[in-house]
Amino acid sequence: MNDVYLSIGTNMGDRLENLQHAVELLKNKEEVKVVSISSIYETAAVGYTDQADFLNIAVHINTSYSSSEMLKVCQWIESELGRVREFRWGPRIIDLDILLYNHENIETDSLIVPHPRMYERAFVLVPLIEITPAPVGKQLQRAHDIIQQMDCEEEGVTLWQASAGLKITQSVN
Ligand code: ATP
Ligand code: MG
Ligand code: MG
Repeated sequence: MNDVYLSIGTNMGDRLENLQHAVELLKNKEEVKVVSISSIYETAAVGYTDQADFLNIAVHINTSYSSSEMLKVCQWIESELGRVREFRWGPRIIDLDILLYNHENIETDSLIVPHPRMYERAFVLVPLIEITPAPVGKQLQRAHDIIQQMDCEEEGVTLWQASAGLKITQSVN
């Protein structure tokens, strides 16, 4: 079983429903076991700022999927929810990114892990460290170290709904 952390974000339509839908689709995969889900955090858009605020969560899963299969599943969920890629970093119904895949460093044409921008994004790190209270390995330790030095309020990341917001009850496969 592979130990994987995902970041899921949305800033279009019914954002809570989008997160719920994405988590449901993950849970419905026999190859995926959802271990934990962070609280939901809200953040004003960074980069291209003329767009609605985002909701973000981090999700810890165990999966038998390889990293490239996992990327395909993430992209399949994005298309199931109707994501249309208009321009990079623009508004989106849903975005599923692979943050960490075991302790591996992966660099292919379609996949870079650890996610190349995760350490500079408070909206990624805040939910991630919530579900990794005792960081295991260098990559999670780095996330914890960075977040301790970040002013998360200044970064605009606020708790939107505590962890009960998304249920992790595993569906019966
Ligand atoms: P960002 O990568 O800055 O968060 P984004 O998530 O909006 O931006 P997307 O349009 O979702 O970018 O994806 C662009 C490409 O990134 C995808 O085609 C995918 O192949 C590639 N990619 C590389 N590494 C990863 C990763 N760790 N997780 C998800 N996609 C990745
Ligand atoms: Mg992204
Ligand atoms: Mg993405």
